[in-house]
Amino acid sequence: MGSLFLDYRDPLFGIMAFLLILSVGTLLAMLFSKLKESGEAKRIKRFLRKFPVDSEASDYAKLLEAHPGSYELLSKVAKAHFDGGDYERSLKVYLALLEWLSPFEKAKRAEVLEKLGDIYTKSGFLQRSVEAYAQSLSLVARNASALSKISNIYEKRADYEKALEALEALEEMGFDEKRRSEFLQGILSLKTARTFDEKMSILASLCGSNDYFAREYLLELLYVDQKKAAEFLRQNSDIHFLDILWNATLDKESFAQCGNSLVKGVLEAKGVSSGSTESGVFELDVVSAVSRSRPELKADLSFEFVCKKCGTLDIDYFFSCKCCGAIGECKVLVGILKQTNDASSFLESW
Ligand SMILES: [Zn+2]
Repeated sequence: MGSLFLDYRDPLFGIMAFLLILSVGTLLAMLFSKLKESGEAKRIKRFLRKFPVDSEASDYAKLLEAHPGSYELLSKVAKAHFDGGDYERSLKVYLALLEWLSPFEKAKRAEVLEKLGDIYTKSGFLQRSVEAYAQSLSLVARNASALSKISNIYEKRADYEKALEALEALEEMGFDEKRRSEFLQGILSLKTARTFDEKMSILASLCGSNDYFAREYLLELLYVDQKKAAEFLRQNSDIHFLDILWNATLDKESFAQCGNSLVKGVLEAKGVSSGSTESGVFELDVVSAVSRSRPELKADLSFEFVCKKCGTLDIDYFFSCKCCGAIGECKVLVGILKQTNDASSFLESW
C-alpha cells in the first residue's frame, strides 16, 4: 500500500506506539522529578488533566514496565485521585501498582493494600476493605494504622470481638486504646444480659465510663421508672441528655423534687411546670421564653450530633465517629424550629 500513513497492522505501528509510551513516561518522570513539596498538589492536578481520561489499568502497567521509575509518580497520581474523591480511578492505578510489585517487596505491597482498603471503605465495600487490610497486615503485622482501621470497620459492622482483638494488638504495640476497649467490652457485656434488670444493672455500672452508656441508661429509666430517672438526673446534669429529655414525656410529679436546671428548663419550655429557670442552654431558654409569651409560635428544639474532630453530622449520638473514628467527640447541636405536629407532612418528606 502506498499510503503516507502507517497502517495499524504494520509492525512499525507497534514500535512507534511503544516509543510513544516510553517518551510519555520519560517526560512525566522528568516533570515529576522536578516537583517540590510546595505547589505539588497543583502540579499533580495539572498532570491529571493531561493524562488520558480513559486510561485503564493496562496502560499503567505498560508505563510501569517501560519505565519502572514511574512507580513513585503513579503512587502520587493514585493518591491525588483518592484525595479528589475519584476512587474508581485511584483503584485502577493502585491495582496496577500491586500487580507490578514483586512478592518480595512486602512493605510496598502492604502499603498499596492498605490504600485499597481505604478506597473500599470510602466506597462502602466494608468486607473488601477488611480483606485488603488483613492482607496488608499479613505482610507487615505491626502496621498500626491498618490495625486501627480494621478495628473501626469491625466496630461499624458490630463485630465487637474482632474489633477488640485488633485493639489488643495495638495495645501490645504500646498504643493507648483503653477507652475504646472499655466501650467495646461494655457493648459486649450488655449483649450477654438475659433480663431487663440485668441489662439495667450493667448499664448503671457503665454510666461512669462514658456518656454513651449514661444516655442509654437514662433513656431506659425514663420509660420504666421516672422517679429513678429524676434521682439519676439530680446527680448527673449534662447537655448530652437534652435531646432525650426533650423527646420524652416527662411526668411532673416524678420530677417535682429534681433540682436539675436542665430538667426544670425542659419542663417549663414544654409548659409542664411554670417558672423561668436559666437552664444554661441558650436555645432551651429561648424556646421556654417564647412558649410563655407567644405559645402560638410553637417554638421547638431540633437536635443534630456532630463530630468535633471532623465535622461529620449524624442523626444519633455516637461514641466513635463513623467517618473519622474519633472517640468521645460527639457534640449535641441544638437548634430552634417551628413545631410541626402534622404527621402526614413528616411522612411526605420521605
Ligand atoms: Zn469524625
